[in-house]
Amino acid sequence: MKKKEVKMTVDLQCGACGALVHKGENPPKFCPCCGAGFERYCITCRKRVDMFFEEWWPEEEECVRTYSPAKRCPTCNASLEVEDRGKPQGGGTAFEH
Ligand SMILES: [Zn+2]
Ligand SMILES: [Zn+2]
Repeated sequence: MKKKEVKMTVDLQCGACGALVHKGENPPKFCPCCGAGFERYCITCRKRVDMFFEEWWPEEEECVRTYSPAKRCPTCNASLEVEDRGKPQGGGTAFEH
Protein backbone atom coordinates (compact mmCIF):
# COMPACT_ATOMS: atom_id res chain seq x y z
CA MET A 1 0.00 0.00 0.00
CA LYS A 2 1.36 3.34 -1.04
CA LYS A 3 0.45 6.29 1.09
CA LYS A 4 0.09 9.51 -0.79
CA GLU A 5 1.97 12.43 0.60
CA VAL A 6 -0.23 15.36 1.33
CA LYS A 7 1.20 18.72 0.51
CA MET A 8 0.07 21.06 3.21
CA THR A 9 -0.04 24.82 2.85
CA VAL A 10 -0.85 26.91 5.88
CA ASP A 11 -1.78 30.56 5.61
CA LEU A 12 -2.85 33.14 8.12
CA GLN A 13 -5.58 35.57 7.21
CA CYS A 14 -5.70 38.98 8.83
CA GLY A 15 -9.04 39.61 10.52
CA ALA A 16 -8.78 43.33 9.89
CA CYS A 17 -7.69 43.75 6.27
CA GLY A 18 -8.05 40.19 4.95
CA ALA A 19 -4.46 39.89 3.73
CA LEU A 20 -3.07 36.37 3.48
CA VAL A 21 0.33 35.62 5.00
CA HIS A 22 2.11 32.36 4.54
CA LYS A 23 2.75 30.67 7.84
CA GLY A 24 6.38 29.65 7.74
CA GLU A 25 8.66 28.35 10.45
CA ASN A 26 8.37 31.61 12.29
CA PRO A 27 4.72 32.50 11.99
CA PRO A 28 4.18 36.24 12.14
CA LYS A 29 2.33 37.65 15.12
CA PHE A 30 1.17 40.73 13.28
CA CYS A 31 -0.24 41.39 9.84
CA PRO A 32 2.51 42.83 7.61
CA CYS A 33 -0.11 44.90 5.77
CA CYS A 34 -2.00 46.67 8.54
CA GLY A 35 -0.20 45.61 11.72
CA ALA A 36 -3.22 43.97 13.32
CA GLY A 37 -2.39 41.12 15.68
CA PHE A 38 -3.27 37.57 14.72
CA GLU A 39 -3.72 36.55 18.33
CA ARG A 40 -6.75 37.77 20.15
CA TYR A 41 -7.52 38.04 23.80
CA CYS A 42 -10.96 38.14 25.25
CA ILE A 43 -11.24 41.29 27.37
CA THR A 44 -14.21 39.84 29.23
CA CYS A 45 -12.74 36.60 30.55
CA ARG A 46 -9.09 37.44 29.81
CA LYS A 47 -8.28 34.31 27.90
CA ARG A 48 -6.28 33.90 24.75
CA VAL A 49 -8.58 32.84 21.97
CA ASP A 50 -7.17 30.40 19.45
CA MET A 51 -7.53 31.02 15.78
CA PHE A 52 -9.92 28.88 13.82
CA PHE A 53 -9.10 27.36 10.47
CA GLU A 54 -10.79 26.32 7.31
CA GLU A 55 -9.42 23.66 4.97
CA TRP A 56 -9.92 23.07 1.32
CA TRP A 57 -8.39 20.63 -1.10
CA PRO A 58 -7.54 22.08 -4.51
CA GLU A 59 -6.00 18.71 -5.44
CA GLU A 60 -6.46 15.26 -4.03
CA GLU A 61 -3.16 15.38 -2.19
CA GLU A 62 -2.93 19.09 -1.60
CA CYS A 63 -4.41 20.73 1.43
CA VAL A 64 -4.70 24.46 2.01
CA ARG A 65 -5.45 25.51 5.55
CA THR A 66 -6.29 29.11 6.33
CA TYR A 67 -6.29 30.36 9.89
CA SER A 68 -8.27 33.43 10.85
CA PRO A 69 -8.65 35.17 14.19
CA ALA A 70 -11.77 34.11 16.05
CA LYS A 71 -14.62 36.58 15.93
CA ARG A 72 -16.17 35.45 19.17
CA CYS A 73 -14.82 34.14 22.44
CA PRO A 74 -15.68 30.41 22.72
CA THR A 75 -15.88 30.73 26.51
CA CYS A 76 -18.15 33.72 27.07
CA ASN A 77 -19.23 34.49 23.50
CA ALA A 78 -18.05 38.09 23.72
CA SER A 79 -17.34 39.72 20.40
CA LEU A 80 -13.65 39.96 19.60
CA GLU A 81 -13.98 42.22 16.60
CA VAL A 82 -11.32 44.87 16.71
CA GLU A 83 -12.65 48.35 16.30
CA ASP A 84 -10.69 50.66 14.11
CA ARG A 85 -9.21 53.22 16.38
CA GLY A 86 -6.67 55.87 15.59
CA LYS A 87 -6.83 55.11 11.89
CA PRO A 88 -7.07 58.08 9.57
CA GLN A 89 -10.59 58.54 8.32
CA GLY A 90 -11.23 58.23 4.62
CA GLY A 91 -8.64 58.27 1.92
CA GLY A 92 -8.81 61.91 0.94
CA THR A 93 -6.95 64.88 2.22
CA ALA A 94 -5.27 64.59 5.59
CA PHE A 95 -5.56 68.31 6.29
CA GLU A 96 -8.20 69.85 8.45
CA HIS A 97 -9.37 73.38 7.87
ZN1 LIG B 1 -4.07 43.20 8.03
ZN1 LIG C 1 -14.41 35.45 26.88
